[in-house]
Amino acid sequence: LTIEQIPVLGDNFIYLVHDSESGETAAVDPAVAGPVIDALAQHGWTLSHILNTHHHGDHTGANLELKEVTGCTIVGAGVDAARIPGIDVRIGEGDGISIGTHQARVFDVPGHTSGHIAYWFEQDKALFSGDTLFSMGCGRLFEGTAEQMWTSLLKLRALPDDTLVYCAHEYTNANADFALSVEPANADLKRRAAEVVALREQGKPTVPSNLGEEKRVNPFLRADHGDLLHAAGLQGQDAIPAFAEIRRRKDNF
Ligand code: ZN
Ligand code: FE
Repeated sequence: LTIEQIPVLGDNFIYLVHDSESGETAAVDPAVAGPVIDALAQHGWTLSHILNTHHHGDHTGANLELKEVTGCTIVGAGVDAARIPGIDVRIGEGDGISIGTHQARVFDVPGHTSGHIAYWFEQDKALFSGDTLFSMGCGRLFEGTAEQMWTSLLKLRALPDDTLVYCAHEYTNANADFALSVEPANADLKRRAAEVVALREQGKPTVPSNLGEEKRVNPFLRADHGDLLHAAGLQGQDAIPAFAEIRRRKDNF
């Protein structure tokens, strides 16, 4: 599986996922069509699928145009079908979707939106997490509760440490600032934050990130971790109220 990252709209990422054997190519969360069409032409690839993580316009904006131009199949969350333009295949928790011989498993991860899904290509160690899990962050709770988002994040946290997290936004620098405000003494976090600053100074993306590292540095994956609870003044709190409090602090940061 070849994964091509296309930065668009300032801080969005579109991904092209290509299987050379079958020639199938998926676009994950195409916000805009032009850069996708250009990248396809550059590689000589033909678009076979769109994989949407959720209905927001900066993830589905090019669905209809790309479908018209390429005849691709649009895959998205069945529970949110009414809000996903041009949806052909309705999927949800436990379903699989294949790009050539590469299978992705689908997780329901509500919280940012009610119908958010994530795609995990197990053999390729790639997770497309949309706006649920960011590097050092998580999505805002627009349509869900803290309990839903925490449960969603626990599903993703359960994946192997060597998973690469392909999230949909370059928010890492701002996320690092917040994470450091919560856990200023976390050595792994300080190291990653410095690395992120250096990458951004060189104009390089900080995504994908490594899930094992996210477990050590992302405050939203650590709402049940003693070190974070202690640093945040939330000792003895259960994970869900602690997560809700951390999320609130980020909203006001
Ligand atoms: Zn979104
Ligand atoms: Fe988004």
